[in-house]
Order: sequence, then structure tokens, then C-alpha cells
Amino acid sequence: MYKTHTCGELRRSHAGQAVTLAGWVHRRRDHGGVAFIDLRDRFGLIQVVFNPDLSKETLDLVAEVRSEWVLQVTGKVQPRPAGMENPGLATGEIEIEAREVRILNPARTPPFVINEDKPVEESVRLKYRYLDLRRERMQRNMRVRHAATQFIRNYLSYKGFWEIETPILTKTTPEGARDFLVPSRLQPGKFYALPQSPQQYKQLLMVAGVEKYFQIARCFRDEDPRADRAYGEFTQLDVEMSFVNQEDILELAADLFTKLATVVFPEKKITRTPWPRLSHKEAVSKYGSDKPDLRKNKKDPDELAFAWIVDFPLFTEQTTTDFFHGSGSAKFAPSHHMFTAPHPDDIALLDSDPTKVRGLQHDMVLNGFEVGGGSIRIHQPEVQEKIFDLIGFSAAQKKQFEHMLKAFTYGVPPHGGIAPGLDRFLYAALGEKSIREVMAFPASSGGKTAVMDAPSEAGKKQLGELGLKTIA
Ligand code: ASP
Repeated sequence: MYKTHTCGELRRSHAGQAVTLAGWVHRRRDHGGVAFIDLRDRFGLIQVVFNPDLSKETLDLVAEVRSEWVLQVTGKVQPRPAGMENPGLATGEIEIEAREVRILNPARTPPFVINEDKPVEESVRLKYRYLDLRRERMQRNMRVRHAATQFIRNYLSYKGFWEIETPILTKTTPEGARDFLVPSRLQPGKFYALPQSPQQYKQLLMVAGVEKYFQIARCFRDEDPRADRAYGEFTQLDVEMSFVNQEDILELAADLFTKLATVVFPEKKITRTPWPRLSHKEAVSKYGSDKPDLRKNKKDPDELAFAWIVDFPLFTEQTTTDFFHGSGSAKFAPSHHMFTAPHPDDIALLDSDPTKVRGLQHDMVLNGFEVGGGSIRIHQPEVQEKIFDLIGFSAAQKKQFEHMLKAFTYGVPPHGGIAPGLDRFLYAALGEKSIREVMAFPASSGGKTAVMDAPSEAGKKQLGELGLKTIA
């Protein structure tokens, strides 16, 4: 190991101990022959003092050191002289009196200042994301994100859920967005699609008898980015359960996110528990939005106002931007997705007036953002076929879903689920100005990946193997 302790863990009780630390130079100052270096690692900052009585060799090395160099320092923990303590720093009562220093790696001058939270143009931050992530605010966001993910895993495992991975190379899931296609080499002319969500697989896992499933799932949608939607991909907590009604799903998700918020954001308070529940109609007529911001004080960064919106109409009008690829004459698009069950009281309306049918859909709203959606699913093949008809699917399109209809003939439990967006939730809870602030390596709004600058051209040989030719 390069270090005996982390920079953040040392306290007054360690005084007198010899330690070896390793990290980055956060800041250096020179005062009358004494050099001070704030050494930083992921766990914190500590002041290291280099006194003039050190060997010339050591002092020469120290003289060279600049911000962001990587050092290993051996020395003794000392209480700081009286009056020199820094109450703003966890290690502020002590410092390291250095004996030896080793330069593990020098660093070029970074393109922006790492040790201050000054605004930097986002394109530069994304280009040098590995430096941006060294900054305190991004470290906090990554820490919070990890804590949230870990909490979710523990909570759901404890409740008997299994975490199961589903394929990334899959078939298009028509959930209303444009797909990313991946050409197949083994079957030229054919394509995989990256999943818009694991929707069909999670329902198949219910047929498989899993009963309680979750996945921290990556979803891919080729949609234009917005402040609350990153380009290309995002992460959602995908959940599915068998033998449940809508109430069970809402109860589990509200309990999980209430507890998660309490643990991960202890400084924040939840406006109302149990979370208010509004019908879609009520939300729209009362607040003019199906994702109302119910905070009492909209300027309070520590207020979290969760709400449920239920009783959505099952259908909306189909537009050309819907990617259901219906027959063209179709009028309806599912409000949520095509697997959402109609309200049992409204089944007869599917024939007479589909616009009046309510769906068993539920949206989770936080501070005016839709942070999750889900539904009770259709589990009767004949109802599923009827919905396909109303969306305007041709026989050939229905055939694409044969696997679902077939699976559903082998004993499918009533089931339902939800999928809160992890990035979206953290973005809303932290009050960040862009969802990219809670993602380690997001794509830019123009669709370029951070640091690596994809998409890029493919070579002739690669394209040839795939049977592709570019025409643009
Ligand atoms: N698959 C849905 C979505 O990504 C969520 C769900 O119905 O569980 O929006």
C-alpha cells in the first residue's frame, strides 16, 4: 500500500503517530522558508508542513511541486500551533510534519482550477471530466449517487427482491422513443436495438416466476436532451412484482424513496408524508400540470415534495413523433406504454370510447419533475391484442410481440412495477441545474460523449464486416 492512512481520517487523537499519505496537491503556500501543502485524496484534505531543516534533496523536490501533482508523504501527525487551527476542515486541528516526500507523478497545469468551485464552461468540463470529477461538488454528487444506489440495493434485497441483469443487445422495445440500432455482423442486414428500458424482459421474468425483480438498469433513447434528460442513456431503478395491485407498488416505492431521502439527504425535509395522491385530471385542473411542484416554499433547496399522479387516460392522441410505427391511420398512442393495463371498470369503454379509458399508470413526481413511472400490466393476451389494434398495429407488427403473447399463454401472474430514474431523482433532489451534474461521464447536449468524443467514424473494414456503407 502506498499509504497507511487517508488524508481525511486523521484527527488530534493521532498526534505523535508516524504516517504515510498519498494524494494530490490541492494547494501549496510558502511562508518564510516553510512550505505548506494541502494534500487531498478522496477522503479529505490535510495540511503538510515542510520545515527548512529537511535535507536539501527533499527541499529541492518540494520546491518543484505544483498543484495536482501526485505525492507520497511520510511524516508525523502534530497538533497545529495554538491559534492556527482551521475549524472549517475535519483535519483542521492537526498537520503533518513531513520527513520524506516522493513524487509519484507530476501534472500539467489543469485547464481549470480544481480547488475552487468557480464556474467553468461545460464543454471544457466534459472534455476533461476526469479533472472535473476531482472537484469537491462533483465528488459529493458521486458520493451521494453511490449512497443512493447502495441504499436501494440493500433495501430491495432485504425485501426479497433479486437483482437480475437483462440484455443490452436486444430487440426494439417500442416505448415511444427512437431506438439506437446496432448492426449485426453474424446476420448481415439485421439489427439489434439498445433497450429503451428492460420492460419486456422484466415482464418475462414475472412469467419466469421471479416475483420480485429489480435492476439498476441503463436505458437508451435517441431523444433530444433537456435539462432533466441527458442525451442517449440514463439509469433507472427498474422494479417489477407479481401478485400485486397498484396500491402495493405505490406503498413500496414511497417507503423506499422516503427512507432513501432521509438517509442520503438528512438535511432535507419531505413536505408531506404520506405523499399526496392526485388523479391526472385533478393535477391538470388544479395545477395545470401532470407533474405539479407541491413544495410550500419553492425557493427552499432542502424541501422535497413527492406526489403520486394516478388515473391517467390510457391513450393519448398518436403523433408523428411517436415511434410506435402504427398503421398510419391509428389515432391512439399509449400514455405510458402499450403494456399498461386498462382500469378494470373501464374495459367496456375500449370498444365504445377508448379516450375515456383510464390506465393503471402511476407517476412519481418530485418538486415538479416526473421522476418515475410505472403501471399494472396487462396479463391477458386478448386484452393485449386489443390494445395493439387500437394503436394501429398491423399483423406483421403484432408478430414482433409474439414472444410476449406466447409467454402469456403459459401461466402469467398478475404483475406490475415502476421505474424511477436514478439520475432524474438525484437531479431533482439536489436541485442541480442540469441532469449531467449527477452523471460521471454524460454526453454533451450535442450528443458527444464526455472525454472520448464519440460518435466517431468507423473504418472501411469494420463497415465491410457489417455489410454497411455510409451514404452521407
Ligand atoms: N418501462 C417503463 C419506463 O421506462 C417503466 C415501467 O413501466 O416500469 O418508463
